[in-house]
Amino acid sequence: MELVDIHCHLDLPQFSRDLGEVVARCVEKGVVVVNNGIGFVSNRETLRLASEHSDVVRPALGFHPTEVVRKKLGEKQVLEEVSIQEVLLCLEHYLLLYLQN
Ligand SMILES: [Zn+2]
Repeated sequence: MELVDIHCHLDLPQFSRDLGEVVARCVEKGVVVVNNGIGFVSNRETLRLASEHSDVVRPALGFHPTEVVRKKLGEKQVLEEVSIQEVLLCLEHYLLLYLQN
């Protein structure tokens, strides 16, 4: 049985030391994680992790509400940050997952 953790933040600095071990344990246990981006840098890193560890990490792009307030981001800025290309990249990851199963 495949387990899916739908809310992870493997891109955060807390995982920088042992990310390899975490990913290896996910592979061993058959766990797939949805990594949720929480800002500009986090979204880029989420896409990188999804490409680098495509057997384990699925991307979800977004913004943490406090970052939206702190940086006074408007709806237009948020939508511009997540480009069509990145949305298609996310969909591609999920399509591949669907096709593999
Ligand atoms: Zn979270």
